[in-house]
Amino acid sequence: MSQSLCTSCGYIGETKIATKGSTDTEIILWFCFLIPGLIYSIWRFRSRYEECPMCDQATIIRADSPQAQQIIRENRAKKIAAIPAFRPPSKVAIGVGRVVGRFVGRLLK
Ligand SMILES: [Zn+2]
Repeated sequence: MSQSLCTSCGYIGETKIATKGSTDTEIILWFCFLIPGLIYSIWRFRSRYEECPMCDQATIIRADSPQAQQIIRENRAKKIAAIPAFRPPSKVAIGVGRVVGRFVGRLLK
């Protein structure tokens, strides 16, 4: 199975198959009325659609489609931008840390 992309949450991977209607209704229809049961089963079978396992939205497109590729690129750019650059602690921060450390040390004596 090919990889799919959810346009709602950016999930990439396998999708789950969701079916409209309920199994209970299907069984009742089958027991009471054979023909409606058959029609209902066919309708359910034909109404199956791919769904995102993360957000349960049916906004699934093929991951290798041009639209998906663009969304993946945009998401990657967003993720890279979201990572804050690592900065070593400033001299002031180290100084304050030492003072607080000494203060706490005195309190605990
Ligand atoms: Zn999703």
